[in-house]
Amino acid sequence: MPATNSGHRFFIWTIGCQMNKADGERISRDLMSAGHAPAQSLADATAVVVNGCAVRENADRKVWGMLGLLQGAKRKRPELLVGLTGCTVHADRTELEPHLRPVDVLFDSLNIEPMLARMSRQIPGTEAYEDVEAAPPPGVGAISRYVNIIYGCDKRCTYCIVPFRRGAQRSRPLDEIVTEARQWVDEGAREIVLVGQIVNAYGFDLNGHRLPDALAAVDALPGVDRVRFVTAHPQFMTEPLALAMRDLPRVCEEINLPVQSGDDSVLRRMARGYSVAHYRETIGMLRSIVPGVAVTTDVIVGFCGESEAQFENSRDLIADLRFDQVHVAAFSPRHGTAADQWADDVPQDEKLRRLHEIERVQTPIARQINGALVGSVEDVLLESLESGKAPGRPPTWRGRTRTNKLVFSADEAGLTAGDTVPIELTDATPWSLRGAVQPAAVPV
Ligand code: SF4
Repeated sequence: MPATNSGHRFFIWTIGCQMNKADGERISRDLMSAGHAPAQSLADATAVVVNGCAVRENADRKVWGMLGLLQGAKRKRPELLVGLTGCTVHADRTELEPHLRPVDVLFDSLNIEPMLARMSRQIPGTEAYEDVEAAPPPGVGAISRYVNIIYGCDKRCTYCIVPFRRGAQRSRPLDEIVTEARQWVDEGAREIVLVGQIVNAYGFDLNGHRLPDALAAVDALPGVDRVRFVTAHPQFMTEPLALAMRDLPRVCEEINLPVQSGDDSVLRRMARGYSVAHYRETIGMLRSIVPGVAVTTDVIVGFCGESEAQFENSRDLIADLRFDQVHVAAFSPRHGTAADQWADDVPQDEKLRRLHEIERVQTPIARQINGALVGSVEDVLLESLESGKAPGRPPTWRGRTRTNKLVFSADEAGLTAGDTVPIELTDATPWSLRGAVQPAAVPV
């Protein structure tokens, strides 16, 4: 695709969660609609958008590093346009200020008008286009793609910076969601993942559609093979949502439902808004309505004031509820949150001991759950063919079951990314499975 010479070649640098990734792809489409074209690389670009994340200190540091790099690039190419968006623009001004020298435009990811206006005022000369090819837009060719359905968060979990950076909950109109999903399918996606900080709060601010309606609308799109959603909050986990997971044919039987702690007093200090008993009931409801549902969870260990007994409650809940996967994190205070004002009083080595203890409990559970699948045949959506990393190793398909389990399988003639094929599972680890495509499998 030759680069247009009536607009910019832009490069979008995205860091952070699925929501940011989805925003980056949407911004890219909006810039293309205005006549600009994606650049192959940062070095080819005449305009750069830094789509930053501020949820973890580590992400902040990477954004500052990128802005430093762009400052260097602008010394050689002063005409290079730099826009900054994402959570970073809502950071404390005193934190942001020292890094803003290379930035021409600060804009909210939901309103790219300031960036578009600046780009149209400062069109690069045609010499900038010599011998340059435009790149495919980000996301094209990916089998699984995200659609943001709700922005922001109205909760105030005491450890989390998101509500301060992403603002209040705003759901997107259903027709916009469907249009974007249809576009991703037209570009080759087979799986659509609806995303939001609390994806199952979708529509509560609109007084109309809810997540089951959004799932049904995307489920009905021709060309969609699978629909997922992430991240759900236990407080908004309703029976109609479980019924939608059971009854909509393309909606997968898989959910991430972060519990964060198995102790009521820690949950109260975290301001999560539910009790352990409510969480247990929710998992029971899900498992009774959705046959074979896979449930994953997130846990924080070493939160402010977490005693040994409180930690053991988390550990025992993990052992008892038998999740398919547990993502465990050691608490680290985030500047600007309520918990940052409290004593971070669990020593780092004790946090790590608790983290490893959760892993020690969870690993055999995951091994058993995955091991029970050995011998069965699962429909696997093939995502990518990984060429042998070590010399002499044959190319291997990487795909996922409906329950989102990672499956590897040797290549066979005629298979293409985006095919769903029956695979007989032969080996399991706690983290993935291996199998063989059924002979004469016709993609389903
Ligand atoms: Fe943060 Fe809590 Fe909102 Fe999740 S629900 S984004 S943890 S404040």
